[in-house]
Amino acid sequence: METPARHAKNYDAIVVGTGPGGATVARELVKKGQHVLMLEWGKDVPFNGSKTQAMGIIGTPGKNYTITSDGMIVGKGTTVGGSTSLYCGSAYPPPIAMFAKYGVDIRAELEETRKDLPIGKLKSELIGPHSKVIAESARLLGHKWELLDKFNYQDKCRLGCFMCFTGCPNGAKWTARGYALEAKSGGATLLTEAKALDIIVENGTATGVKYSHEGSMHSAYAKNIIIAAGGLGTPVLLRKAGIGNAGKNFFVDPMVLAFGLLDALPGGGEVPMTGGMHLPEEGIMMADLPLYPVVYRLLALQKLHVKNAINHKKAVGIMVKAKDDLGGEVTNSGGVKKVLTVNDHKRLATGYELAKGILERAGAKNIFKSMIIAGHPGGTAKIGDIVDSNLMTAAVKNLYVSDCSVIPEAWGLPPTLTLVCLGKRLAKHLQ
Ligand SMILES: Cc1cc2nc3c(=O)[nH]c(=O)nc-3n(C[C@H](O)[C@H](O)[C@H](O)COP(=O)(O)OP(=O)(O)OC[C@H]3O[C@@H](n4cnc5c(N)ncnc54)[C@H](O)[C@@H]3O)c2cc1C
Repeated sequence: METPARHAKNYDAIVVGTGPGGATVARELVKKGQHVLMLEWGKDVPFNGSKTQAMGIIGTPGKNYTITSDGMIVGKGTTVGGSTSLYCGSAYPPPIAMFAKYGVDIRAELEETRKDLPIGKLKSELIGPHSKVIAESARLLGHKWELLDKFNYQDKCRLGCFMCFTGCPNGAKWTARGYALEAKSGGATLLTEAKALDIIVENGTATGVKYSHEGSMHSAYAKNIIIAAGGLGTPVLLRKAGIGNAGKNFFVDPMVLAFGLLDALPGGGEVPMTGGMHLPEEGIMMADLPLYPVVYRLLALQKLHVKNAINHKKAVGIMVKAKDDLGGEVTNSGGVKKVLTVNDHKRLATGYELAKGILERAGAKNIFKSMIIAGHPGGTAKIGDIVDSNLMTAAVKNLYVSDCSVIPEAWGLPPTLTLVCLGKRLAKHLQ
């Protein structure tokens, strides 16, 4: 590898990655008048909702998805906005008490975020027949199935499409790309297709980042370095900075999807995860999941359910997400060695039985369970272990982490709103 020359330009902060963790810190630092460089491995293209674009964001092995040692697929959106490009847009409230145990109070940031972003339950005109039928069936069975908060500009949202999953072309779904572009228009430099490869550490203090861009190696320097490369990307960079214990004992939030066929459904797309329920004691979270046709068909065919695969219009689905036991190791190249425990499988099985019951009560036939998918990897640089309550690494000064990696315990929840709050809090104390 060519030795990079010391870059003439210095910054107040370099932020690696523009998912919700990174884009939020960058935007807040720019608002404070700081000179910020954002390095993003992916491209910056306005979302157009096309399959081709979505495949570019999530279709390349290693860069966009990984298969764990246990055979689970883990998706990672590699573009400006990170995985929020393709997320379902659910704004699940952060577990305030869990963070308080680690000296992290994010109540003020939660309030600020609720003012900043379009967070709320969908208005009734946007709730489609798929979500309604599941909610009704769950409630008849006595479940506490409720509308979930969404990150949606509801005046721009249209029923009848599945494009939350492929990048909403109507701009109805808030994504972290919005914050990254705000940071850029406020004066930050956004380098896309710029992959951070190493952290420069001098006398125990992080001073810069080495990265590849347009076919050559570069380095940039700053007072503070913030790694926000996601739950799997961040530990790889932390190890390069000499933090060898990063990337161990983490969670992947495994999910199974339960699908059936319901004749009464009119077909057509709608917003996923409109309603759901959380069973903290059981370590399960569930939500309705009208799924994008191609992905649905692949999941059905993978389980040899041909009748389901060819009847997408009648498909009715529920996502079951479990809080898995911490374990495993991220390899130096970002691979995932993680085997689910017996208890993890029990949680998923309990959730699936509940989901199956709801689908059956709704009148669905041909119910099947998908393969297990890893939802959101994190906890690879936990607060209280790798980083302190200010999100600075204990081993290297001025090196911070702002993404799913810092979550201190087993999780099992949609993390985006939490990451935005943590990013805002971090920016407040970065001078
Ligand atoms: C299909 C799907 C649906 C989801 N639905 C929801 C939902 O409804 N609600 C919710 O809260 N969460 C949801 N999630 C999860 C959520 O999107 C992620 O947990 C969240 O985006 C993680 O944020 P992050 O900042 O940790 O990482 P990411 O969003 O993954 O961002 C990391 C960024 O770093 C960049 N990067 C990585 N390595 C490097 C490097 N070396 N150099 C430069 N850049 C790098 C990546 O390109 C990426 O842009 C969903 C995820 C998926 C895949």
